[in-house]
Amino acid sequence: MLCERCQKREAVVHVTEVVAGSGEMKKQNLCEPCYSESDIAKTLNAKTAGWTSYHPPQTILPDDESNR
Ligand SMILES: [Zn+2]
Repeated sequence: MLCERCQKREAVVHVTEVVAGSGEMKKQNLCEPCYSESDIAKTLNAKTAGWTSYHPPQTILPDDESNR
């Protein structure tokens, strides 16, 4: 999947914006440079609520102790 901003690099950051009020979700797929240049990164620092970002799923090891 290509970055939606520059359309050149592979998108590695997938951001979901939840629009306050309507609950509508906007998705953006960005490469690392575009993400760090975008307002999203700044917004995330200033206001985490309403924004989520994640990298492609990582392997989560089973936590045996919490399953007991
Ligand atoms: Zn880009």
